[in-house]
Amino acid sequence: MEVRTRFAPSPSGSLHLGSARTALYSWLFARKYYGKFLLRIEDSDAFRSVKENVDKIINELKWLKLDWDEGPYFQTARLDRYNAVIKSMLKNGTAYRCYCSKDRLQILRKEQIAAGKKPKYDGYCRDKYFRSFSDLPFVVRFRNPDCGVVIFDDEIRGSIVFNNNELDDLVICRSNGAPTYNFCVVVDDMDMQITHVIRGEDHISNTPRQVNILKALNASIPKYAHLSIILGFHGKKLSKRCDDFSIMNYREMGFLPEAILNFLVRLGWSCGDQELFTISEMQNIFSLESVNSASSTFNFEKLMWLNGHYINHLPVDYVASHLAWYMQRRDIDYTTGPKLVDIIKFFGKRYKTLKDIVDHCGYCYCDFYEYDHKLAKKYLSGEIKNFFQILRLRLGSLNIWTYNVVYSSLFSAISECHVDIKQIGMSLRVAITGVTQSPELVTVLYICGQVRVLRRLDMALNYIAGNNNDIFV
Ligand code: GLU
Ligand code: ZN
Repeated sequence: MEVRTRFAPSPSGSLHLGSARTALYSWLFARKYYGKFLLRIEDSDAFRSVKENVDKIINELKWLKLDWDEGPYFQTARLDRYNAVIKSMLKNGTAYRCYCSKDRLQILRKEQIAAGKKPKYDGYCRDKYFRSFSDLPFVVRFRNPDCGVVIFDDEIRGSIVFNNNELDDLVICRSNGAPTYNFCVVVDDMDMQITHVIRGEDHISNTPRQVNILKALNASIPKYAHLSIILGFHGKKLSKRCDDFSIMNYREMGFLPEAILNFLVRLGWSCGDQELFTISEMQNIFSLESVNSASSTFNFEKLMWLNGHYINHLPVDYVASHLAWYMQRRDIDYTTGPKLVDIIKFFGKRYKTLKDIVDHCGYCYCDFYEYDHKLAKKYLSGEIKNFFQILRLRLGSLNIWTYNVVYSSLFSAISECHVDIKQIGMSLRVAITGVTQSPELVTVLYICGQVRVLRRLDMALNYIAGNNNDIFV
């Protein structure tokens, strides 16, 4: 039998880390068994800004490269189908109309609570003949079995048992004609022939109701796997509503999809002590049996470590394509400076996110016209003038600009001036970059390019000569 899994987000916000993990596990499971992974948008409850959230979810799934084989299916496009199923259930008696007023249900509830019972619909309308009420508002309820148990084998937690007498006759269609959430999920899982439902543990209590409805529809029952929650900082549940945990936010913080996927796969699943997994490794060895039933904890340092690893180990052209996106977001014209692959090569070891890289390589692309006053005062003094002049001459006369040529020019200027690289290092760094932290000096000179280096040496010499002092005050 073909394995068919689905990711079924409700479009109440953008894609959140926890939901992305659910999507990843469903996707991996389908890929491992050469099955199908479906995307279904559960928009049957009227959410605000559905379109915007759906676009966000789809874009973020694409960015993570969690591709789907079918869909996206939209529940709002399937209302006729749900209504047809409700009609057939009314006909065969697995569902019935309930005309109970709100007042009656409220009184019933109060009485049950007062008697120390769990509030539950009492089945009042189950076997009534309603022709004479037919113009009054009604809901449709599922006729839940009265007794016995409903058991399902959770792939992660083992067998889970519910007593039928604890389950309500669930409303499957509201008085305005709208089918309810649990019902739509059932019809979808049946029609889409889902074999494995992998979802968050907050849906465990829905499962016995869904199983009973599936049985009433003579549908086959999928296998269920409920994933434990992820605890955030301070042991609190990651909030779905909080945009801080959206995939987009992590993208903007400069994380690569590979790092996020590797991070997510380890949040609740393990394979010995292994921490690093390529996507194809994940596909081969992922299994639901090795998913932990205990909650997992979000560890930001680990995500940083993984990102640093992937920045340096994925093909440099690929990482550069992500850096290009990032630079565009920051309005940096990366065509005016070094190749992005060089930036990855020279800055990738120093920083763990694309954001940090971009924060520290701005001087390679954007010109600046004055120095920080304090730095200039400290590092651009008269003593350095002679060395800068010699270096300017040597670098200015170069016809080619390679790392090696720049290297020899720098060191011949150093020996000509009888100085030590340690003596001149910081001054040269400040002159060329305007900051005190950068990769090693030859690299900095090389990637900034001849034109920028000469211009900045002139600017530094100008400052030393006191010509431009007024602009630094
Ligand atoms: N729409 C549900 C959610 O976003 C998932 C339902 C399911 O997977 O069955 O939590
Ligand atoms: Zn009723």
